[in-house]
Amino acid sequence: MTYEELKIQMDNSGHSYDEKLIGKAYELAREKHEGVFRKTGEPYIEHPLSVASILVDLGMDSTTIAAALMHDLVEDTDVTVEQIEKEFNSEVALLVDGVTKLGMIQFSSLEEEQAENLRKMLLAMSKDVRVMIIKLCDRLHNMRTAEGWKPQKQRDKAKEVMDIYAPIAHRLGMSRIKDELQDISLRILDPIGYEDVAHSISRNGSAKEFVDNVVAEVKAKLDEFGLKDATVFGRVKSVYGVYKKVYILNRDFGDIYDIYAIRIILNNLSECYNALMLVHDMYKPVPSRFKDYISSPKSNGYQSLHTSVIGKDGVPFEIQIRTWDMHYTAEYGIAAHWKYKIGLQGEDNLDSKMAWVRQLLERQQESDDNDEILQGIKSDLVPDDTYVFTPKGDVISLPTGATVIDFAYAIHSAVGNRMIGAKVNGKMVPIDYKINNGEIIEVITGPKDKGPSRDWLNIVVTSEAKNKIRSWFKKERKEENIVEGKAAIDKEMRRNLINIPDDEYDEFMDEVARRQKLNNKEELFAALGYGGLQTSKVMFKVRDVYDRMQKKAQRESKPVVTTTPPRKKVRSVNGVIIEGMGDCLVKFAKCCQPLPGDDIIGFITRGSGVSIHKKSCINAQPENIDEENKNRWIAAYWADDIKEDFKASLEIVALDNGMALADISTALTTMRVPIFSLNAKQTSDKRLAMNVTIGVTNTEHLMSIISKLNKMKTVISITRM
Ligand code: MN
Repeated sequence: MTYEELKIQMDNSGHSYDEKLIGKAYELAREKHEGVFRKTGEPYIEHPLSVASILVDLGMDSTTIAAALMHDLVEDTDVTVEQIEKEFNSEVALLVDGVTKLGMIQFSSLEEEQAENLRKMLLAMSKDVRVMIIKLCDRLHNMRTAEGWKPQKQRDKAKEVMDIYAPIAHRLGMSRIKDELQDISLRILDPIGYEDVAHSISRNGSAKEFVDNVVAEVKAKLDEFGLKDATVFGRVKSVYGVYKKVYILNRDFGDIYDIYAIRIILNNLSECYNALMLVHDMYKPVPSRFKDYISSPKSNGYQSLHTSVIGKDGVPFEIQIRTWDMHYTAEYGIAAHWKYKIGLQGEDNLDSKMAWVRQLLERQQESDDNDEILQGIKSDLVPDDTYVFTPKGDVISLPTGATVIDFAYAIHSAVGNRMIGAKVNGKMVPIDYKINNGEIIEVITGPKDKGPSRDWLNIVVTSEAKNKIRSWFKKERKEENIVEGKAAIDKEMRRNLINIPDDEYDEFMDEVARRQKLNNKEELFAALGYGGLQTSKVMFKVRDVYDRMQKKAQRESKPVVTTTPPRKKVRSVNGVIIEGMGDCLVKFAKCCQPLPGDDIIGFITRGSGVSIHKKSCINAQPENIDEENKNRWIAAYWADDIKEDFKASLEIVALDNGMALADISTALTTMRVPIFSLNAKQTSDKRLAMNVTIGVTNTEHLMSIISKLNKMKTVISITRM
């Protein structure tokens, strides 16, 4: 992708772009990324150019394109947000700043952190959704060029896409972007499954013929009845879409109605319903497969009529009928706001489309349980909705799996709190009944002060219902909560054989409460009682306090005889011995990059091993160590054996892709292997032959270096000389 190509694309887009602004953004990006190359080998500037190109395709505005060209400047170069604000404008600066901040959110498998990260993403998105649109395109281009990453990084990024980015793209209605993100990620995460499904879809040689025939038939029929403007075409479901049904929902390939679909796009609503009648006249509709997403749009704004019909040879397929406006929204989602301004009512409309982000943020502020927040956000991000009706005919949409209780709370908290039963299509159903599309649901209410049941918390699926039930208990049943909560935690403690003497019980519980950031044990019991806190979570703190109590008792009662434990034979890791620790993960701090011979000290990180600093490192100075982390510093020294380096010479043959030499020497440096000499020459067959002499501690060490080098993509062979 070159700037010239981007300009041609903009000229042909039918939109008018601010070439001055975009050109200036390009110039700055080109200058600052000069001389930097991507892992795949091409100049870095190709990346921002490609991201901008995807955004031009989406029809985004000049501000977004300019920001996209500069999206990696603040993170990777000396350009600051202030500079962009001064040289461009505050809007562009805001977008670049937002994308930079999103990029700095490190995904972790820890649920607490994930919930917090998602919250940050939603916040960034609620300020200006274009930040997220740029980020999605950034990630899309990175996934398209994922082969530049090591396999593990490819998988991590693909997982992140599946967990976070694809659901967000889906929630924003950007189905094209979502489909591609999911397909690429699936190919990385399950290459065999991907191939299997992709093959099954395309193998069906007759499928194309079948679809072409139906398209022609439908087109002719619509023509005949005066719908001459109708656009009819066939489409195949995305690989991931089919994969999900076959591999995750365990459906037979042959039972999936919507692998092949026919789309009919028309000028207005009445044409849509007319077309529906015509196709139902041509083919036999599958009962219960008709969905009217025009009168009940999906929560991401998607509108269409869906019906499944049986074709001439008994092959079922789906027909989707929509207007052009609906079509654009279906493909581009929120981005259609910029692409097709016509038909949308400006900012108000965008605001209402983004209202769910604010609701999500507000709702999660009420909850302090991270699991809960994460679940809530995830289920709200993937709105696989079920549509049901009130007796008056109002449509209520709820996530799949929702119960009649969720329905009652979706109407109003007062209805939920007074609920005593429900009728579905006129018949009484159990209180945990799961609702289905199209059902008419009537909630039966009791007296005003009836109130929900605690069991309902385990039945409902929406975070809305959960929160409303909890807040009822929180308000209405304080005393009862305290009793319930105390009983629950006492039982759990007995189960775990934790016995607290009666005279210490109050003090003990107050301490647990304080650690839970509550004022006293009553608050703790109350929170447990109304379900604001989970017993299992509190048990961590209980164990902690109990351990301390045990240790304290031991110290006070019997003098501990200290004996020097026999000194264990310690193994060095990466040439470093950490006092008191055997095998642990050891890495070298980036801030000071200690080398053998330097005086060193270790820092026990949270969850990623020990990080080795120079004793002289600024971060290891007493005045820079905060109280909280004081105990994490630990003595460390270089293993003796590191000094007894011996030299080994290797001949490495690699692909001559221009980066091989740099990659291999970087890899050696990362492994902290000293390089004594390195010669490389190109061979006639486009390969690079390298002679490298390195320092190793022993044979084992040498073998591990060779095996790591062998895993590199560019490396073809390694021979020890
Ligand atoms: Mn980027």
